[in-house]
Amino acid sequence: MSSIDMRSLILFAVSSILSITLYSLPAESFAGINSSFVQLVRGALIIFALYLLFEKLFKMELHTKILLGMVLGALAGWLFRESIVEIKPVGTAFIRLIQMIVVPLVLSSLITGTASLGDVNKMKRIGSKTLTYYLFSTAFAITIGLVLANVIQPGDGLNPEVKAELLQNYSSMADQKVTSAQENRVSPVDTFLNMIPKNPFDALGNARMLQIIFFAIFVGIALTMISREKARPVLAFFEGVDEVMIKIVTIAIELAPYGVFALIADAIGVFGIDILAVLAKYTVTVAIGLIIMLIIYPTIASRFAGVKVSQFLEDIRPAQLIAFSSSSSGATLPVTMEVAEEKVGVSNEISSFVLPLGATVNMDGTALYQGVATVFIAQVYGIPLDISAQLTIVLTATLASIGTAAAPGVGMIMLVMVLQQVGIPLEGIALILAVDRLLDMIRTTVNVTSDVTAATLIAASEGQLKRPEDA
Ligand code: ASP
Repeated sequence: MSSIDMRSLILFAVSSILSITLYSLPAESFAGINSSFVQLVRGALIIFALYLLFEKLFKMELHTKILLGMVLGALAGWLFRESIVEIKPVGTAFIRLIQMIVVPLVLSSLITGTASLGDVNKMKRIGSKTLTYYLFSTAFAITIGLVLANVIQPGDGLNPEVKAELLQNYSSMADQKVTSAQENRVSPVDTFLNMIPKNPFDALGNARMLQIIFFAIFVGIALTMISREKARPVLAFFEGVDEVMIKIVTIAIELAPYGVFALIADAIGVFGIDILAVLAKYTVTVAIGLIIMLIIYPTIASRFAGVKVSQFLEDIRPAQLIAFSSSSSGATLPVTMEVAEEKVGVSNEISSFVLPLGATVNMDGTALYQGVATVFIAQVYGIPLDISAQLTIVLTATLASIGTAAAPGVGMIMLVMVLQQVGIPLEGIALILAVDRLLDMIRTTVNVTSDVTAATLIAASEGQLKRPEDA
């Protein structure tokens, strides 16, 4: 071991021991000391220890670092509980860094993506392939969720005391979700009308993704209809913006291991893992469904696009890990596009059309979870759901998942819509709130994986998938 390594090793040992000690001490030990100062010192020490581990002591691939960050974050959350929660700003900073580019990225990539499809026929073909995949995969996912929920019966045998406790503890949080769902409640016609922005700048300023998508696709189409000479500078501008945004992701993603550490530590620190035991049957049912989906995607990619399962999983891992830790397919989008193009080999033309659209409208994981959650709540309340009620769930959850914003916890708000549709008491969501954060992580991973799979299949069917090994 060289002297540099030795020095890093000693520094690593010292900073880890110090930070572990500082996090383990009870709050009273710091009486009289400014709490922000304590927060800063122990936070800086733990991040420094991670830095030495990731960058100095070992040579690791980025996704290994992210995975390790996640495991260590979970460990820190479990060991230090509330005190580690203060590390969250590191995670928030990382997420904001990638979120910062989502709106310009969606706009520029959809404009250039649509325009590069060139002629209207190609647009129609790729557009309809994309929408078909999105609708079918979502409906399929809910069906899996419903089948599992009917077989496993997660709501049967829930201890009445636990039920009463959950309803009481989470009722105000549940009320908030219901209110915000009701405030946002719009008829299907209005949902459609709302997609058309009255002012695209307002849509951009408020990150209204469906409106941005509508505007960008329209601009893209119009660009192919005007003279080349006029279209060229506009396209060149957006292509430039697109590249700059992707460059920012490649820089920001280097910080992912630290961000992911902080996010997971916070999640476990706040919610703990004990609650999982109480809602084990429900949690396991959703998790089994989501894991089945996570196995199906690479299998389909291998069957129809000829990408080896293990290779596909390795290629998309950074996007999956960031989706898992951020619970936001929107925030993950820049990374999703990067791995689809650079690792899987999807052409920019396909990725920049299919992925921004998918991040917003394609949410298989969310839909599956809505299916299981609805049946679970109905079972707890003893409400039978016949086949027509279950079909209503498939339909509403598919539509709800299109309208679900690609952000943490939004699937829960859309669940209110599904429950209403089949007449299940809305306060029932208090029963599942406690484990929602964890399930949100897994369902977001599914949402993102489904998007990349769509891009891979469509690229392959268009002869636009260039595997690095073919180069
Ligand atoms: N967090 C999910 C996503 O961004 C949406 C949800 O299910 O809450 O994909």
